[in-house]
Amino acid sequence: MRTIPALIAGEEVTTGTTFTVVDPSTGTPFAEATRCGTAQVDDAVEAARSAFGFVRGRSAEWRAGVLRQLAALIRRDADRLADLECQDVGKPLRQARTDVAVTARYFDYYAGILQALHGDTLPQADGMVAFTRREPFGVTAHITPWNYPLQMTARTLAPALAAGNCCVLKPAEDTPVTAVEIARLALEAGFPPGMLNVVPGFGPEAGAALAGHPGIDHISFTGSRPVGTAIAQAAAANVVPVVLELGGKSPNIVFEDADLGHAVPLIVSAIIQNCGQTCSAGSRVLVHESVHGKLVAAVRERFEALRIGPGAQDPDLGPLISDRQRARVASLVEQGRREAVLVTGGDVPDDERLHGGFFYRPTLFDHVPATAAVAQEEIFGPVLSVTPFRDDTEAVALANGTEYGLVAAVWTRDIGRAHRLADEVCAGQVFVNTYGAAGGVELPFGGWKRSGYGREKGFEGLLGYTQTKTVVIGVR
Ligand code: NAP
Ligand code: MG
Repeated sequence: MRTIPALIAGEEVTTGTTFTVVDPSTGTPFAEATRCGTAQVDDAVEAARSAFGFVRGRSAEWRAGVLRQLAALIRRDADRLADLECQDVGKPLRQARTDVAVTARYFDYYAGILQALHGDTLPQADGMVAFTRREPFGVTAHITPWNYPLQMTARTLAPALAAGNCCVLKPAEDTPVTAVEIARLALEAGFPPGMLNVVPGFGPEAGAALAGHPGIDHISFTGSRPVGTAIAQAAAANVVPVVLELGGKSPNIVFEDADLGHAVPLIVSAIIQNCGQTCSAGSRVLVHESVHGKLVAAVRERFEALRIGPGAQDPDLGPLISDRQRARVASLVEQGRREAVLVTGGDVPDDERLHGGFFYRPTLFDHVPATAAVAQEEIFGPVLSVTPFRDDTEAVALANGTEYGLVAAVWTRDIGRAHRLADEVCAGQVFVNTYGAAGGVELPFGGWKRSGYGREKGFEGLLGYTQTKTVVIGVR
């Protein structure tokens, strides 16, 4: 079986203790990963600190060069990386291939824009010259979830590295495989040892040791709200900034004048992509009462036609990440049955060939009251809630009626209404007549309300990994 090491100071490190990595399509182990603890996290932070001494003396052009080279190597190894991601997460091969392409784009994109990163000159009294410099923090910590291991790795590392930081990444224990591959490719691309370190392990061990480490200068966390709160507390104790990318309960808001033929396929893919395990999943549909019945019938038809299967067979819908995640989805669906009308799904597929994997049928609830658990809680599974509304005011109230605010989409042909809704809906990204931007590396992304704070992606993501230094020089 494949062994996944840690990568610290340019060396592949094992600790003698491992944990098992499972293929969710079959439920069978396919790798053993090195279980890092405090000692390895200490070594990784020290290695990053020492590499920072080297990297801060290099030019922006040098950083752009190694990031571009990494992007090229990711593209060279695209098939191999996609196969690994597909096996580790269970996602359909086509989606894994897209993830690899987006991963390469992150490194290319930040290699490009980092050379446009500069300070300002500021007006001062005669005899004074004042300017700002955009400087890296130093050592940045990155803790990622299991749903898009490659994309999350690139989304958080590429801007941090582009800004000149050196990084320590703790990948999710369920999916540590491809982050280590990226660190290997980074060495091949010419990263000096320690510029990027990866410490696989468990959240309460390696993750907590990293988040609370006094040697780090910035934390980026993507994951659940309870863990995000603990990370923010650890960051507060050391007075370091933190970016929190947490969950969502994102609505597709469908008006009576929407083009349903265009909307329905995108509404379906917004919830079934990655088996609903997407922070920006479109997990709610709010629909005008006049087109409600038509929309539910169209979504149901598509749900029932979806092909479910192992990721490697490139189905429409792969498995959930683990048995534990499936149990969580099933328990929320049970609650949903008591609170709303189950239209289709709500169980495990009745297919013997799928019995080892963690599959769950796409599930549609209708007439979901705004207060129901399936309308309020992030399920992280292929479960869609439909709630009808009477007018625009009610639509906005429903859209904003959860504790989250990550993404929203408005479906209408009325340009005035589209603008009004974009103004009134509380979310980090609002789409009109389209949904989602997984590949949109240029578009700032992040939460309002309990979905988190700070932004990744886009130029704003790069600025977030810098701190401003103001320099004033008396010239007389
Ligand atoms: P999670 O349980 O919060 O885990 C996220 C990461 O934190 C994992 O690497 C985990 O390690 C680690 N961790 C757990 N406990 C920790 C602790 N005490 N100290 C430090 N680190 C700790 O989240 P998840 O279940 O993997 O992911 C699902 C959640 O992520 C959902 O809520 C989803 O919405 C959110 N998400 C958000 C975005 C976004 O951009 N907003 C993107 C993707 C996912 P282990 O793997 O060992 O537990
Ligand atoms: Mg796995």
